[in-house]
Amino acid sequence: MRFELLCVVALSLGTCFVIGCVEKPAPAPATPAAMSTDDAKFSAAIAKLPEEDRAAATAQKYCAVEDKSRLGTMGMPHKIMVEGQPVFLCCAGCEDEARKDPQATLAKVEKLKAAK
Ligand SMILES: [Zn+2]
Repeated sequence: MRFELLCVVALSLGTCFVIGCVEKPAPAPATPAAMSTDDAKFSAAIAKLPEEDRAAATAQKYCAVEDKSRLGTMGMPHKIMVEGQPVFLCCAGCEDEARKDPQATLAKVEKLKAAK
């Protein structure tokens, strides 16, 4: 009787153990590579900016023209002055577009800074 009980307990423990092993969650995958790379590039680029530009670039975060393009992902952010305001772009190629409509560019910067 006692032996049989032990067998049942052992068997169920064994089963639990096996199931436990199978269902054991794999180590959580790290944050998607692209995401963390963009973050890393952004942080690295911000760190290289002159101190007085860091706050503005950090607040803006994205290019004022290509607003899906994170600053730093295409190299050092390109800084231009529009109507006396610092505007950061993902690359020099965006400068013409940013200067074409200064008001729209400044409005975009304000929107980017407001978005969290
Ligand atoms: Zn660009």
